[in-house]
Amino acid sequence: MKYPALKNYIDGKYVSGSGINLDVYAPSDGSIISVVPISKSEDVNQAVIAAQRAFPSWSATPIKERAQIFYRYKSLLEKNMNELALLVQEENGKTISESIAEVEKSIEVTEFACSMPQIAAGEVLEVSKGVDCHIEHCPLGVVASITPFNFPNMVPNWTIPNALVLGNCMILKPSEQVPISANKIAELLKEAGLPDGVFNIVHGTKDVVEAICDHPGIQAVSFVGSTKVAKIVYARATSNLKRALTLGGAKNHLIVLPDANVNMTASNVAASMSGCAGQRCMAASAMVAVGSVDHIINQLVEESKKIIPGKNLGAVISLQAKERIENYITEAEQQGAKILLDGRNCKVEGKENGFYVGPTVIDFVKPEMRIAKEEVFGPVLAIIRAENVDTALSIQNSSMYGNAASVFTQNGGMAKYISERASAGMFGVNIGVPVPREPFSFGGWNESKFGTCDITGKSSIEFWTKLKKTTVKWNPDSKVNWMS
Ligand code: NAD
Repeated sequence: MKYPALKNYIDGKYVSGSGINLDVYAPSDGSIISVVPISKSEDVNQAVIAAQRAFPSWSATPIKERAQIFYRYKSLLEKNMNELALLVQEENGKTISESIAEVEKSIEVTEFACSMPQIAAGEVLEVSKGVDCHIEHCPLGVVASITPFNFPNMVPNWTIPNALVLGNCMILKPSEQVPISANKIAELLKEAGLPDGVFNIVHGTKDVVEAICDHPGIQAVSFVGSTKVAKIVYARATSNLKRALTLGGAKNHLIVLPDANVNMTASNVAASMSGCAGQRCMAASAMVAVGSVDHIINQLVEESKKIIPGKNLGAVISLQAKERIENYITEAEQQGAKILLDGRNCKVEGKENGFYVGPTVIDFVKPEMRIAKEEVFGPVLAIIRAENVDTALSIQNSSMYGNAASVFTQNGGMAKYISERASAGMFGVNIGVPVPREPFSFGGWNESKFGTCDITGKSSIEFWTKLKKTTVKWNPDSKVNWMS
């Protein structure tokens, strides 16, 4: 094995989990690169005890000092960029440039967390003669973050810097498919000066997640993953009276109008559909082609042919994922859709055991087909034809998801019409992947997110803190009024 067997990280030390080990694969060649412990509820309990012990001192540390640790963490992310990106590439299978971009986003969210002393500073107002009211953001206590396989470095970092700078202690449950990056994050946090117990990792699967949802010592749970599990986690955590924010899957529609800039649209749609092998919750999954757009579709196919598996297209996460994606393509073909570019049965020379699916473009998909409705999570674009903009909108809005949507047009009025009516939390105009940059927050609508607040940006402050409202009067001679 390329990497030593992984351990949990509790109270600043690496400790063995109490369950069995599971293999960790390199998707690019199918080799086993490590093993990860499948922990049990007693491991979660140990982590909660460590985090509870660390909380009084960490939460009493001034926020400006807590932020200083994250300035150092940000520098360490930069310094260790190569190693961090290689780990992502190895355990997730994406390309090295995508892996670097992922770590760059982690750096951006950490920069944002460093600004918390300024933006989460609270408020004070003399509300009546001699009477002041303060409002402060107070940490919740021990919180948990449960993360998916598709961004092993970035998604943990969506939550760690913000939650910790705001004074919480955390237990991270990374995806068992990509657990190696998380342990490197723990190492860098320690090197940055984070006290032991403030950040802990419990590796595992369902049992760990259930133990997190049930543990009375955990105040809040954030989750990023599929809608199916997001619903389970939201229901279980809130039924145990915890605060929960659970982000689910996506089916993102790009509406393309005939006046769209051909080159920009074709290259953006192809990149959005295939980036990170289509394993992004912001990926273009369905393109709704309005009216006469064959000239754009032709160009899109040409652009997609430039995407070469093993070169500028990474692997998908597992053999099961490859088979699932290929089944969607086959089913669409059997139901009458037209395959313009076929990524099935793809082999990369020298990496014959890798889990690759080539870029796939399918035209004349009907809205009722499974490939039009379900999350495929592979480099596959389903093109659905629509006669007009309102039909396109009704196709987009009939999705149970609502993570992202985009329109490609040169008509500002039409872009506004569509953006006002699209039921999605993140909207793009001539942008294939409309991820908001910090300080704007990340989060979808409908069954792409359960709970209030977004997971990053200013909105996350409300999720990771509770408000204390203090009313103060010191001067007994203050003029008597209604506040007295
Ligand atoms: P997943 O739901 O299978 O797993 C997510 C986490 O839940 C993992 O840590 C996993 O161990 C755990 N888990 C899995 N099954 C469980 C169960 N039955 N009970 C309790 N916990 C369970 O998701 P994934 O396959 O790792 O990630 C891909 C999904 O994540 C896609 O649907 C993608 O759209 C979504 N995603 C969403 C966003 C977003 O911002 N909305 C971002 C990234 C990924």
